[in-house]
Amino acid sequence: MPETDADMSQVVPLGIEELLAHSRLAAESGQHRLGAKQAESVLVDNGATLLQQASARELLTLHRLRLGDYQASVEQGLLALEYFTANGDLLAQSNVHCTLALAFSDIALNETALHHVLGAIEAARACGNPVAEFWALSRSSLVHGAMGDAVRSVELGKQALALAATLHDPETSFVALNNLGDTYLTMARATLARDEDASQPFSDGLELTREAVGLAQRQGNTFHEAIARTNLVSMLIGLGQHDEAREHGRQGKELCRVHGYRSLEIDIDSQLAELVRADGRCDEATAMMEAQLADPDVDDEPALLAKLHRSLFEMHKAGGRFDRALAHYERWHAVTRRMTMQTAGLQAQMLINTLEIEQARHEVEKSQLEVRVERLRAEELDDQANTDPLTRLSNRRALDRELPWMMGLAQKGTQPLCAAMIDFDHFKTVNDHHGHATGDQVLTTLASMLRAITRSTDLAVRVGGEEFLLVFADTSLADATAACERLVASVRDYEWQSLAPGLACTVSAGVAALEPHETVSAWLSRADAALYEAKRRGRDRVHAAGTDVAVIT
Ligand code: GH3
Ligand code: MG
Ligand code: MG
Repeated sequence: MPETDADMSQVVPLGIEELLAHSRLAAESGQHRLGAKQAESVLVDNGATLLQQASARELLTLHRLRLGDYQASVEQGLLALEYFTANGDLLAQSNVHCTLALAFSDIALNETALHHVLGAIEAARACGNPVAEFWALSRSSLVHGAMGDAVRSVELGKQALALAATLHDPETSFVALNNLGDTYLTMARATLARDEDASQPFSDGLELTREAVGLAQRQGNTFHEAIARTNLVSMLIGLGQHDEAREHGRQGKELCRVHGYRSLEIDIDSQLAELVRADGRCDEATAMMEAQLADPDVDDEPALLAKLHRSLFEMHKAGGRFDRALAHYERWHAVTRRMTMQTAGLQAQMLINTLEIEQARHEVEKSQLEVRVERLRAEELDDQANTDPLTRLSNRRALDRELPWMMGLAQKGTQPLCAAMIDFDHFKTVNDHHGHATGDQVLTTLASMLRAITRSTDLAVRVGGEEFLLVFADTSLADATAACERLVASVRDYEWQSLAPGLACTVSAGVAALEPHETVSAWLSRADAALYEAKRRGRDRVHAAGTDVAVIT
């Protein structure tokens, strides 16, 4: 495919969104060098948002893959994926997974490629996007094919084709037909390699590829037509239909020549030479292949180089020209070894990169965990410092912290706020007659009752030995007094005998409503005074500050 790189210095600088749009167009027209440059200028732009950066990385993944820079492709793809995953963008996730699958498949890291096609299918289905699902299925078919699982590859290719039929989109329709045809071709070659009859997969592939050629012609897409014709030639050669193969080869070559599809043209040249060889005209075929080897453009296509050297080795050997056969044999092996080593090197580098990324992620997770542990520990300490260990109620320290805040809220909204001081009656005798441990149990029992009658906006505090304070938020003096009456009655009626035989307990309570502009100490002193008044009036009762009448309970 031609790479026509525009001179970026001559154009007016583009905005970030424009750059991204241009880079996307470049991907569609196969101008990957240009597209990569555009995406990279987004990445170095300080004004780019995180989303724009991720979109640039998504594009770079594809451009770098097509330019054969797998390491950069994978690096950008993983970063893009991280962003799209964090932001729940399923469509973008599916697209990036597809490209990563191709990259990993190209360097024969098949397991990783499989992981990404699965991710692509899952994300496409989760967002209900049939076009994304088509690409995911199509890539999945390619990955299985590259792994040598032709049956599964065909199955997935058929699913993709069926889905494409519902989409009515020129690109996907063509890709579905052409790729499934190509999959049959791979299957046919594998069948031949086992010395079995491959005519069925060849004809299945032929039929689909003929359709692909027709579709490309109707769509006026010459590049697609040239690709499909190249595949058609391979199938016709496989089926022994050399005349037709030659005709399609000729037409394909013409298309490539006119439109400048150099890499495809080289492929067709080698097919034409194979056809000449299949016709038994070995000298002519040899000359054609030697001529191809002299073309510097072929050096960029190691797979084709290997194929040419192999054919030339076989033909020279058959013709008894052993020294020349040996020379091609050696170069064939050198190319193959270079390809294998390159793949192995890339695989090793990828593994190192993956490990480093994992390592970095673990470090981040570890430090996040450490922060959480620290916070929990601090909260626990804070909790301990603000909680009374015996009753698990808040302590005086919590009161000092919470009260100003509650008073502020009440004064701002002019909501009533009431304090109730609660003190056990004759608690000394409880200890004296039933022991300190029973006394403790009595205190924790009352704490449970206090928790039960307070709301989350209220406050229940153990302020001293057997003295408690309740702060009722948004509660009138009458309501707070009524709540205390119910508490006093509950304490009186409680089955204290279950703690110790003969045990009976009562409490007294003094209630005061916060006056406007009153200080904390003045307010709580009035609640204390009300408690003292309840005690003075005979205990086991509530007294509300500002009322002279004791509430009879
Ligand atoms: P009044 O009705 O006037 O309040 O009489 P009282 O006996 O309750 O009053 P006083 O304040 O004189 O006695 C309180 C007693 O509570 C003294 C102390 O031994 C007991 N006490 C304080 N803290 C605890 C505690 O944590 N556990 C136990 N078991 N007893 C406690
Ligand atoms: Mg007491
Ligand atoms: Mg007391």
